[in-house]
Amino acid sequence: MSIHQFSVIQALMAGLYDGAFPTREVLAAGDFGLGCGNALNGELVIVDGQVFRCTDDGAVSPGDPDELLPFAEVVPFAPTLHHELAGSVDRTGLEALITGLVGNPNQFYAIRLDGEFSDMLVREPVRQHHPYRPLPEVMTTQREMTLPSTTGTLVGFWAPHIFQGVSVAGYHLHYLNDSRTHGGHTLNYTVTAGTLHVQPVADIEVHLPGTPEFAAADLLSPSADADIRRVESTSASAR
Ligand SMILES: [Zn+2]
Repeated sequence: MSIHQFSVIQALMAGLYDGAFPTREVLAAGDFGLGCGNALNGELVIVDGQVFRCTDDGAVSPGDPDELLPFAEVVPFAPTLHHELAGSVDRTGLEALITGLVGNPNQFYAIRLDGEFSDMLVREPVRQHHPYRPLPEVMTTQREMTLPSTTGTLVGFWAPHIFQGVSVAGYHLHYLNDSRTHGGHTLNYTVTAGTLHVQPVADIEVHLPGTPEFAAADLLSPSADADIRRVESTSASAR
């Protein structure tokens, strides 16, 4: 069982937002995961084989099987660790709990948490147009939304730190509520109740785009680690 990743995070950081991988190809590789839409049109949540797009108008719509995606990470979801949360826990607490549960930070794991949340802070990018600017610049305009009380699913991955730049090192979790009306890339939350399902994965297959833009891109940036941490885990107002 492998994680399949389509493109690399450093390509997004460099402003490569044109899709290169058909959604149906991504879904054939896994029924669970995350990604982003063509031209940064929304954060994607892939759950139970369905793709949902969370856009900057705060809405959620179904993904298009023919759309080309610039980035996605999926796995055939088959969790082996299950854990019922005993009480309320914040983002840092949940991350520590998962890390403790798996006990191997040098391996990938896929994470699903079905539960109840308070103060769920999600973000969605603003759709981009050519010429594209690098992601750290673009995400200063991201839309952020707090859901004070919500029931839904966290979907995402842990990647080992040595994979920073290929994947997002550490935790990368998206959210989708049960009524499929709100969601996005999570920046903060408190889990008040829920069940955790975790799948440790030792294998990853990375599919690189065959586009001229990817061939010409400079994917080595000395500030990559700091840039990725800023873009992926902090509110635009805190940067
Ligand atoms: Zn994300």
